[in-house]
Formats: sequence, structure tokens, C-alpha cells
Amino acid sequence: MSLDLPLVRGHVDPAVALRESVAPVALVRAGEADVILVDGAGFVLLDEAEASSSNAPVLLRLTGDEATRAAEGATASFIGVVRGRSVVAIEANRDEVRGRWEHLRAVGWQLDGDDAALALTALALASWHRAYRFCPRCASPVTVVSGGWAARCGSCDRLEYPRQDPAVIVLVQDRRDRVLLAHNALWKPGVVSLIAGYVEAGESPDVAVAREVSEEVSVAIEDVSYVATQPWPFGRSQMMGYRARTAEEAPTPIADGVEIEWARFFSRGQLAEALEGGDVSAPGRSSIAYAMLAQWYGGDLPEGPGTRDAPERG
Ligand SMILES: [Zn+2]
Repeated sequence: MSLDLPLVRGHVDPAVALRESVAPVALVRAGEADVILVDGAGFVLLDEAEASSSNAPVLLRLTGDEATRAAEGATASFIGVVRGRSVVAIEANRDEVRGRWEHLRAVGWQLDGDDAALALTALALASWHRAYRFCPRCASPVTVVSGGWAARCGSCDRLEYPRQDPAVIVLVQDRRDRVLLAHNALWKPGVVSLIAGYVEAGESPDVAVAREVSEEVSVAIEDVSYVATQPWPFGRSQMMGYRARTAEEAPTPIADGVEIEWARFFSRGQLAEALEGGDVSAPGRSSIAYAMLAQWYGGDLPEGPGTRDAPERG
């Protein structure tokens, strides 16, 4: 089974020359861009009427006067061009704009590739705009420029660009082909995922993988190999996925008791039984953790009694 990363299936042409030359709101006013709405806390506004043939969710697209009204006075970002049409994202507050708001974590895997890519980029920018409002050098307020892709300090002129924090996530298999799953102390009971953590200052991701596994569950690994990367803009992480084997045949993980409450190895049969019985819940379907786990499992993970209510997590 190939690895399916739902948020990066599609492609948005960044059309950098266009975004540097025309303000996003001007494009909307001229009728040359459609508008989507996002809330920087991770939410996208869906079209309640429009549904694709598979009944999957679709981003709400505003055009014409409706788009212009939404864009006036709002923070607007030029996201790029999809199927020949420019798209501008407007940052809105989901408590003030009525409609079907959903968290991208929850619906990302059901969106078509283009909508997922638009939402991913729009939210990465929106969450950055929310957090980055003052110059880190002189503490003066900043103004968003370059179609949403940079911010300039009004006092010292310093330019800043959107950041992503590198993080690693690793699927560890023991020598009996079982997978290591861990429960984080901050998650709801039963939720499990792969070992993950941020790359520290001055550290390479390849080194961070072994450090995280050692720190969190005291397991030594080898044969570390890179798999794929998916941005995760809730926070602003760039999740770099790795695979690794345990050095010993079947080590016993020892949870650190701080970040990780418990951890154990599961065979495919044990995981299916635990999921179906509701003893554990899988990571959210939009995540790289789910994709890597499903690839190891050989298909979609079995659903349990509580799957529909399972907490989504980062
Ligand atoms: Zn400054």
C-alpha cells in the first residue's frame, strides 16, 4: 500500500509574480479571484449546498460582490492558482461568520486534493498572521505584505516570513514486525500514535528521531530511513516521517512517565482487536501518523465503537 498524505495530494500554483504585483483584495474586487474563508485556529468554511459526487465536503467559494464584501477590511492572502483560477483566503472569526466551519484536522482527508492544498496553505498563513503581530527586533507592530507571505516592521523595516517548526515522527517496528504505539499524557484515554517530537536547536532531524525514541520510551533503534513529510499547521509544524527498526528483537518500552504515559508494541491482529474493541483509538485520518500506520497495517485501520467520537489531535 502506498503512503496517502491527504493534505498534500493536490497542487496549488503559487504564482509568485502575481502575488508580488497585485494586492489580494484588488484581485477580488476586479473579479479575478475567488475567496475562501479560514479561521486561523485551524477551521475552514465549507459549502453547505455544494457537495462532490462522493458527498465529500467542499470549501465554500465566494465570487463577485459576495467575495468583495468578505474581503473588504479583512486580512487577505493570495494562496495561488488552481485550475486556472486565483484563490484568495480571507481570515474570519468562526464565531462571527455563520456557516459550516470544520477543523481541517477532521475534514482534511475527505477534501479533494486541490481544496486540501488550498486549506493547508491558507491556514498556515492565517495562524502565522495571528501569532506574528510585532517585530522580534524592535517590538513595533508589523504590516502584512507580499500578498500575505511576509510581514514588514513599521518602525525598523525588518521583513519576516512565515515559519514552520521541524518535527519528526517515527514508525518503529520490532524484529517481530510489531509497531510501537504510545499514549501521550495530554491525550484522551486510549488515544495512541507514533513517537514524535520537535527537532531541537542545532539538531538534524535524523538525529532527533533516535533521541525522541530513546527519551520517550527508552528503546534503541537502527535502520532509520526517511519516508515523507506533511505540513501540520495547527501550531506550525512540518512533520517529517521516518521508519526505524528496534536494535533488539522485542524490547520492552519504558514510558518516560512525563510526556508518554504508556507505550507498547502491537501486532496487526492485536491492533485490529484493540481498535475494534474500543481499547485504543487511532490518530486522526488527516495526519501523517495515520497514513504511516495504515501503510504498515496494509489498508485503512479498523474502526472501533467510538471512532466517530474519537478526539482529533495534533
Ligand atoms: Zn522592527
